Amino acid sequence: SCTANGVAAALRAAAKVVAEHRAELVELDRAIGDGDHGENLNRGFAAIVASLDAAVPDTPGAVLKLAATTLISKVGGAAGPLYGTAFLRASTAVGNASELDAAAVVAGLRAALEGVQARGKAVEGDKTMVDALLPAVAAAEKGTDVASVLQAAAEAAARGAESTVDLVARKGRASYLGERSAGHLDPGARSTSLLLGAFAEAAR
Ligand code: ADP
Ligand code: MG
Ligand code: MG
Repeated sequence: SCTANGVAAALRAAAKVVAEHRAELVELDRAIGDGDHGENLNRGFAAIVASLDAAVPDTPGAVLKLAATTLISKVGGAAGPLYGTAFLRASTAVGNASELDAAAVVAGLRAALEGVQARGKAVEGDKTMVDALLPAVAAAEKGTDVASVLQAAAEAAARGAESTVDLVARKGRASYLGERSAGHLDPGARSTSLLLGAFAEAAR
């Protein structure tokens, strides 16, 4: 199971991975967007770490809510509100429990996906973060403990992100390129895969 400190550690791990992959995410977004995805996300996760350094909220849900409000205020662009909504919905889904079990983590992931889709209206195959998050949620449901839930989610997200290479974008800036968006990895799908990979690593 996973406490407030466990969620905080997962977010710190995510911040480290985002910082390490900042330039890669910028390059991916430069190819089919406006080149800011790595900077945007790195700014947001650095701010989350700064908040956690000041004080870790009492419950896993409160930590997720802090992440949500920070991402919404610091990231901007399309990804800020989308990731912000994802963390906010996850926060609401897990409620005020002091520890999260596997079922709670699955519920949080499912709520995150529902939030992203409610906000951005993307479906599977539109070449967005949904193409990583949707298969991640399906795979997470087969996990038996928090670590295996997150491991399964991370592996499915990585495959889902790779699947965006061949797709033509139908949502976001990349959709302005039409057919020319094909042949490139979607930056948001890649960042979703990186985040879930970091969460899985932290839970191991
Ligand atoms: P912006 O395009 O505003 O600069 P970012 O570069 O931070 O925003 O994020 C781009 C990513 O956001 C895309 O790669 C895609 O994965 C995701 N995205 C864009 N629009 C949507 C949407 N409507 N639904 C889901 N994801 C989206
Ligand atoms: Mg961008
Ligand atoms: Mg932008």
